[in-house]
Amino acid sequence: MPLPILYIIVPCFNEEEVLPASSALLLDELQTLAENGLVDADGSRILFVDDGSSDATWAIIDDLATRDGRCLGLRLSRNRGHQNALIAGMEEARGNCDIAITIDADGQDDESVMAAMVEAYANGCDVVYGVRRNRDSDTAFKRVTARWFYRLMSAMGCEIVSEHADFRLMSARVLDALAEYEEVNLFLRGMVPLVGFSSTSVAYDRRARLAGRSRYPISNMISLAWEGITSLSVRPLRIATALGIVISALSFVGIIWVVVTKLMGNAIAGWASMTAIQLFIAGIQLIVLGIIGEYVGKTYLEAKRRPRYFVSERSGSPAETHVDAERPNGQ
Ligand code: UDP
Ligand code: MG
Repeated sequence: MPLPILYIIVPCFNEEEVLPASSALLLDELQTLAENGLVDADGSRILFVDDGSSDATWAIIDDLATRDGRCLGLRLSRNRGHQNALIAGMEEARGNCDIAITIDADGQDDESVMAAMVEAYANGCDVVYGVRRNRDSDTAFKRVTARWFYRLMSAMGCEIVSEHADFRLMSARVLDALAEYEEVNLFLRGMVPLVGFSSTSVAYDRRARLAGRSRYPISNMISLAWEGITSLSVRPLRIATALGIVISALSFVGIIWVVVTKLMGNAIAGWASMTAIQLFIAGIQLIVLGIIGEYVGKTYLEAKRRPRYFVSERSGSPAETHVDAERPNGQ
């Protein structure tokens, strides 16, 4: 059975400070994997996706791809965000590889667990999630917000793997399956579990960024959570409906109270209670309208079916030998 061809996909946005160090780590790891007979030495590649960086990131990638045949570069026409950069890399790799591993460019994910990922693939898994064992390297604030992120997501009915970011192995057939999901608002962490197939996870210790700074401040985390929830689940709409039912029930009790008070002849001009009730109902109505609006907006954006990204440049060359029909796992 031929060794699998591995593509390591690395999204990079303004990572000039860290890329020289992290690309060296990834190249070493690819070398080790090939030497240990886990992946194909000739066909495997590291694919750097430049997500519209405004610094020297593309120059670094281009240089790597020119000097080292194992490196490839893909440059997007502008910044489209982490998720789009990932899918761009995955679509580029599709057809050229048996397995793809996506990993951040900043060295936070421990590349040495790739061996365990590839072994799990050899044992029949199609998806291998890299799961953080600790968050010692993160700030207390990041830890707390990240925990709330996972709680909120699961409360809202999104099936995601806890403590898993986008460091994962996917087989060729998972890449094929993901290509059939046409949504424009991407949330890969939620989409991969939907694809199914057998999966497992490997734990790793998350390191501190080697250099540079994070582009996921709290506002991005909130928008990622909201994006994830609204693209995977309609539970917020159900909550809105449930809220409506509860308030209707309360109003019904209120109506009985009003009628009884009137019949007993002690109806008085209740300014305070009227105002409070009106403000309360108005507030709830606005929230519910907002939630509905979010989904309408999302439908609008999806209905336009705009392209997710455009490629402006490529660098380096994939292997001549194409992936043949005889894939491991009988895929
Ligand atoms: N990234 C990207 N496009 C963006 C933002 C980030 O491709 O618009 C890449 C970034 O270069 C890194 C990965 O996504 O490789 C994760 O970003 P970051 O390290 O800033 O996030 P964190 O690790 O703090 O969650
Ligand atoms: Mg990072």
